[in-house]
Amino acid sequence: MNDALLEKYARLVVRTGANVQKGQTVVIMAPIETAGFVRKVAEIAYTEGARDVIVDWHDEKFSRVRFLNAPEEVFEEYPSWKKEFFKTYLHQGAVFVSIAASDPENLKGVDVHRIAKAQKVSATENKEFSDRLMTNQNSWTIVSMPTEAWAKKVFPELSGEEAVEKLWDAILKTVRVDREDPVAAWKEHSKNLKKRMEFMNFSDFKYLHYRNSLGTDLKIELPEGHQWLGGSEENVNGVPFNANMPTEEIFTLPLRNGVNGRVFSAMPLNYNGNIIDKFSITFEDGRIVDYTAEEGYDVLKTLVETDEGSHYLGEVALVPYDSPISNLKILFYNTLFDENASCHLAIGKAYFPCLTGSENMSEEELEKAGANNSLVHVDFMVGTEDLEITGITADGREFPVFVKGNFAF
Ligand code: ZN
Ligand code: ZN
Repeated sequence: MNDALLEKYARLVVRTGANVQKGQTVVIMAPIETAGFVRKVAEIAYTEGARDVIVDWHDEKFSRVRFLNAPEEVFEEYPSWKKEFFKTYLHQGAVFVSIAASDPENLKGVDVHRIAKAQKVSATENKEFSDRLMTNQNSWTIVSMPTEAWAKKVFPELSGEEAVEKLWDAILKTVRVDREDPVAAWKEHSKNLKKRMEFMNFSDFKYLHYRNSLGTDLKIELPEGHQWLGGSEENVNGVPFNANMPTEEIFTLPLRNGVNGRVFSAMPLNYNGNIIDKFSITFEDGRIVDYTAEEGYDVLKTLVETDEGSHYLGEVALVPYDSPISNLKILFYNTLFDENASCHLAIGKAYFPCLTGSENMSEEELEKAGANNSLVHVDFMVGTEDLEITGITADGREFPVFVKGNFAF
């Protein structure tokens, strides 16, 4: 990766993703393999006025060693200093930058119950963290860069070095760093997403009915007051940021108890270092009542059984089949990219800003309004080249929303 491009990308992350403000603290959560890029992001953040940059490093190869060798009970513990770490910076109004670059099969062969335990403990102990981010009280952004282990999974036929180069190429395309002025390109992109959102908001559908040749036949009810969001958002202080880079989706929340039918996965899902593939999920009155998977059934089971809320959906997102990431025809095994190549749904917590007035609602009121709550939020891809989605209004009028995998309007 040449230095000029790396710097261009780091600048985009600081300005358009995190939108670092003068005097703000920046917390970067990053794998050790990405250290060179993290230093570059930090340098630019300081020059743009950040007060301080704090890095929370992790080492996934060490995680694997620990998962394979430590006694079971350590996975039920969570260090209080770590909880304090996040709390401190949350309350300082920090912006959180997360670098998603894990080896999709890092934890292959590890007892899935150990992973599920650790995941649940960390989600429980860091609930305030996810709550504040999911309600835009702190700005946040998830970005990515290649690591060799991940790149080799995406391009197994190439050498490590070639695979990394090729994955860099793909990533920089998806985040528009190949454009002359990526910051301007993102503004333009956000505007286009807003047009789609406005149409969906104006249509105010009560149901979306999904069908395709895999066997998907799913009817999703949308709650009263739902709003489609996408592109850049604003935190509670009115500062814009981009939560995901790349992003191609517009999304809202489903009515917790209003999902019925069966949906089939369109792509493999990388969940906590394991792969779930060729799966289907059946819903009755919103609740998952059955599921199948040709690969990773046990992993899917631990996900669905995390808590009560992980038996329900929290997100409905629309991404055309004919879109920049999808057209690369690369399976990234990384949700940040794969979810932006395909219509997706998420198991678990809803993104509350999708509900009008949610900022003044208690958790109870949110649940009453149909917003699902859970410790998890996991996207899975359902969009295929032949996906048809029909929008149905409250008075029963039907309109095509997706025809042959793409927006009908
Ligand atoms: Zn989404
Ligand atoms: Zn999601």
